[in-house]
Amino acid sequence: MSVNSETLDLTHVDRTLAQQVTPGRWEKMLSCIQCGTCTASCPAAHAMDLSPRRMWRMVQLGMTEEVLRSRSIWLCSLCYTCHVRCPRGIPLTETIVRLKELAIERGIVSSPQSGAFYRTFAEVMRRYGRMREVEFMARYFLASSPLAALGFARLGLTMLARGKIGLELPRLGGEGRLDRLFQRVAELEAQR
Ligand code: SF4
Ligand code: SF4
Repeated sequence: MSVNSETLDLTHVDRTLAQQVTPGRWEKMLSCIQCGTCTASCPAAHAMDLSPRRMWRMVQLGMTEEVLRSRSIWLCSLCYTCHVRCPRGIPLTETIVRLKELAIERGIVSSPQSGAFYRTFAEVMRRYGRMREVEFMARYFLASSPLAALGFARLGLTMLARGKIGLELPRLGGEGRLDRLFQRVAELEAQR
């Protein structure tokens, strides 16, 4: 189905995806007027393969595969700007979180770097209860693209020299500070 049309042909509305990712408020998603405020407000829109406005049109049309396979949902930094500016009051950021969850449930992660970033971030937070930048970046580059680290070496050294990041040795083994919290979240997610 074409996603280029500027007007929504109501005969093509498929509420399936909207109901999945905006539970209880899916009617709001169908009320999107394609004003483009979300795209104009988004700091990551320039790097996305689907602009937010277009993505919401595709959600209205039930284009699940196309939306879940887009890189856009992984480039979203969950800044909430589109969310607070949408004239229809659509819960856009929460919907993107749900789209990410749905993509993971289906084994679709179209941006491996983003997947590695999220996993590494969560693992460092689970272990220490706070961010440890150097260990985080080392783990991230090991999990995604070790050679890419070379391109950031100079920046990293400059930040270290200026005290912007701290060099702390990784802790080996043992329990993480947030193990119980992560375990509880996993239990709650399993009940959904
Ligand atoms: S800001 Fe809201 S109404 Fe406007 S295009 Fe984006 S989702 Fe649709
Ligand atoms: S929440 Fe995501 S999609 Fe919305 S403006 Fe921020 S980065 Fe863009």
